[in-house]
Amino acid sequence: MAELSLPFDRWHYPVKKFYDLYDSSIEEPEDFWAEQARQLDWFRTWDRVLEWEAPFARWFVGGTLNACHICVDRHAKTWRRSKVAIYWEGEPGDVRVLSYSTLYREVNRYASVLKNCGVGTGDKVALYLPMIPELPIFMLACARIGAIHTVVFSGFSARALADRINDVGARLLVTADGGFRRGKILPLKSIADEALTMCPSVEKAIVVKRADNSVTLNPPKESWLHDLLEEADPYVEPELVESNHPLYVLYTSGTTGKPKGIVHSTGGYLVHNYVTYKWVFDIREESVYWCTADIGWVTGHSQIVYAPLAHGAATVIYEGAPDYPAIDRWWDIIEKYGVTIFYTSPTAIRTFMGHGEEMLKKHDLSTLELLGSVGESINPEAWLWFYRHIGGERCPIVDTWWQTETGGIMISPTPGIECLPLKPGSAGLAVPGVEVDVVDEAGKPAPREQRGSLVIKRPWPGMLLGIHGDPERYKKAYWSQVPGYYYTGDYAVKDGDGYFWVLGRSDEVLKVAGHRIGTAELEDAAVSHPQVAEAAVVGKTDPVKGESIVIFARLQEGIRPSADQTKSLTSHIRSVVGAVAVPDEVCFVPRLPKTRSGKVLRRVLKAVANDDSIGDVTTLEDESSVQEVIQAYQELKEGKGPGAQKNYAKGKPKKEKR
Ligand code: ATP
Ligand code: MG
Repeated sequence: MAELSLPFDRWHYPVKKFYDLYDSSIEEPEDFWAEQARQLDWFRTWDRVLEWEAPFARWFVGGTLNACHICVDRHAKTWRRSKVAIYWEGEPGDVRVLSYSTLYREVNRYASVLKNCGVGTGDKVALYLPMIPELPIFMLACARIGAIHTVVFSGFSARALADRINDVGARLLVTADGGFRRGKILPLKSIADEALTMCPSVEKAIVVKRADNSVTLNPPKESWLHDLLEEADPYVEPELVESNHPLYVLYTSGTTGKPKGIVHSTGGYLVHNYVTYKWVFDIREESVYWCTADIGWVTGHSQIVYAPLAHGAATVIYEGAPDYPAIDRWWDIIEKYGVTIFYTSPTAIRTFMGHGEEMLKKHDLSTLELLGSVGESINPEAWLWFYRHIGGERCPIVDTWWQTETGGIMISPTPGIECLPLKPGSAGLAVPGVEVDVVDEAGKPAPREQRGSLVIKRPWPGMLLGIHGDPERYKKAYWSQVPGYYYTGDYAVKDGDGYFWVLGRSDEVLKVAGHRIGTAELEDAAVSHPQVAEAAVVGKTDPVKGESIVIFARLQEGIRPSADQTKSLTSHIRSVVGAVAVPDEVCFVPRLPKTRSGKVLRRVLKAVANDDSIGDVTTLEDESSVQEVIQAYQELKEGKGPGAQKNYAKGKPKKEKR
C-alpha cells in the first residue's frame, strides 16, 4: 500500500529531524540514552549507562530513583498538584477524578497500608483487581516502598491466578469484592478464595469494596482496604532503589503456551517509556489521553500508568466493556472527557467497523488529534476506517509495535519528533536508540521486501531483566534462534524505505504445498472483503499438501452466512493473494475466540480444525466462544451449516452444495 500524504501540518517539519536524531542515537547509543535518562529525577546518578553481559542487560547501573516519586511526587509539588491525573469512569457510569495531589495522598496511604501488612522492599504483591483507580494506586504504592507488583488480569480464572501467584511467590494479594463487566458483577473475591487454597506463599489479603456485593472475609488474614486505611500514615518516604531493582513482574498473555513472568527494571523501563511516550504520542500538557487496554497487560502498565503519569499527563481509565450499555460507549467517553489522544487495538477497530458509522453520528469526536494502534498488525482497511471515521482525516495514526518483553514501544511513527509519511499497515521505523532488522534463517539481513524474522540488534533500556526464576528459558526463548540478536518471534518485511511491516508471529505461518503463507496476509485479504468483519486463518494437517487452509470468519452485522458468501470470499482471496491461498474450508462463526487483550487465540481454532484437544482456555475473554466455534465447524463438516461449507478437501475440488 502506498504511503499517504496527509495534512498533518502540526507535525511536519522541513528539516529531517527524525533521521538526524536516529543516526546520532545509533552512533553513540550510551550517550544518547544517558541524555534521555537525565530528564527523569535521579537521587544518585548512575556509574555506568549499560552493563551488557549478553544476554543480560543492566541499564544506568548504580543510579537510584523511585518510580512513584517520578510519577506522582514530582508533580504534586508543582502547579500540577491541581491537574487531573486520572479520569476514571466505571461501567455503571460512576465517575472519579483524581488530581495529582489526590493521587499523592492516596499512594502514601496505600503504601502505609502495605507496610503495616508487613510488605517490604523486594517483596512480591499480586494485584487481582478490576480497572478501578485502586489498581494504579496500589501499583504506585508498591513502587513507593520498593515492593514488586504482579498484576493479574481480573478476567483470569482461579487456576490462572494461582499459577501466577505461585510462580512469583507473592506474600500479599489485593483483590476486590467484584468488578463490573457487561452489566454483571465479576465475583473476584470468590475466585481469589479458590486460588488462595492453592497458594501457600500468601500471608495476607486486602479486599477493595467496589461492587457492594456480599462477600465473606476471614480475619485476620483478610481485611477490607477501607478498614486498613483508617490506620494508615499520611506519608511514607519513597524507597530509593537501584535502577535495576525490579519494578514488576508481568506474565505474557499466553497465546502461545505457558505464561512467562517477564521482569522489568525500574530505571531503564521508566526512561524508555518516558521518552517514547513523548516521541510517539507527542504528549502535551493539555492532552487528554486514553488508552483502552486493560492494566492487566503490558500496554496498560506502560501506557495507562507509568508513561502518562511520569509525564504528569491526564489519563482516562474506563472499567467496563466497549459495547455496554450500547455500542457507542467509547465514543461517548471520548466526547465526555474531550480525549485528544486515543490508543486502541486493531481488533477493537475491526469490531466497530462491523457495526457501521451510524453509532458515530451522535458524538462529537473533534477533540481527537492523534490515534494509536497496538497488539497486532492493523490491516489497511481498518487503518483507513480509523483514520476517516474516528480521526476525521486529520489525526495521524501511530501503529506501535512492541511486546511485554520490550517494556516500551520499539517501532512506531514519532510525530513528537517529526511525522514522516505514514503507510497504512506499516508500523514505520524503529524509534531512536532502538535498532531492529529483518533477518533470514541464517541470521543475515533479509533482502528488502522479503519476509524474515524481526530481531532487535542491541540492548534497549526497556528490555526485560529476564524471566522470573528461569534464566535458561530466557536464553532459549529469545537468544538461541539468531546468534547475537534478540528474537522477537514475529515475521516482518522491511520495505524499500526501511519501513517495517509486521506480518504476525513466526509460528503463524502455514506451509501449503511447499509454499509458506503467513496467516496475517490471508487474514488481511479476508477482511478486505466488504462483508467480512473479522477473520482468523489456521492450518489443518493435510497428508497431501502438508497443511490445508481453514478460514474462520465473522461476517459484518446483519449479513447471514450462505453458500454464496463462501464462494464470494474464496474468489476474493484467490484474486487478492492468488490460487495458492484459496481456503480449503470457510467456517462462519458468530464470534472468534479472543484473549482478554483482544487477540484471537488461533491455537484454539487450530485444535478445532484438527480435532485436537483444546487445551488451556483460561486466557479467553469468553470461553463459550469455543463451543460456538466447535458447533459451527461441526456443522460445516457435516454439510449442515447455514451455507458455510467446504470448498475443497485434501486439495481436491468438491461440489458445492446449494
Ligand atoms: P505470548 O507471548 O504469551 O504469546 P503475546 O505475544 O500476545 O503473548 P504481548 O507481549 O502482549 O503478548 O504481545 C506482543 C505481540 O503482539 C508482538 O510480538 C506481536 O506479535 C504483536 N504486536 C504488538 N503490536 C503490534 C503491531 N503494532 N503490529 C503487529 N503486531 C503487533
Ligand atoms: Mg509474545
